[in-house]
Amino acid sequence: MKLCKFSQKSKEYTYKTFTDKQNKLHGKKFASIPFNKRLVFVPHCMRNTTICTAKEKDSYYICSECSGCKINKISKLVKKLNYQTLYILKGGRTIEKIIKEQKPKAIIGIACFFEGYQALKILKDEDVAVQFVPLKKDGCANTDIDIDEAEKVFRYEN
Ligand code: SF4
Repeated sequence: MKLCKFSQKSKEYTYKTFTDKQNKLHGKKFASIPFNKRLVFVPHCMRNTTICTAKEKDSYYICSECSGCKINKISKLVKKLNYQTLYILKGGRTIEKIIKEQKPKAIIGIACFFEGYQALKILKDEDVAVQFVPLKKDGCANTDIDIDEAEKVFRYEN
């Protein structure tokens, strides 16, 4: 049991170290990209599924701003700053397809450390500046973020 906990902590440390490093590496370039060339990915597990009225597309949802979860604030911020688009992803597999279609220059990805780590690996050969924002409470449902910390990232500019 102790060994298992140690192994879990060790993995988390690896994911955090990798994602921190990638954020630093891409930070300056990300800040130089205009808001309207930036995409946002958030995980579906942040939705309040008991009341969510988001519209379902094939591999993602579009928030209808029912105020049931913090994606509401993110959706409003995306519109206010004139970001390219916000996607509520059902899973990470669709990221490459969306990038091919939308051709963003920068991406903000909100996810747990494991998903963030996986996504950054997928994106490492793409010409796109990524900033990863970790969930402060992860899991399969009712996940949460620090919205003030996330907003700082959304507003990054040189
Ligand atoms: S704010 Fe958006 S994502 Fe959140 S529960 Fe409402 S419609 Fe769904």
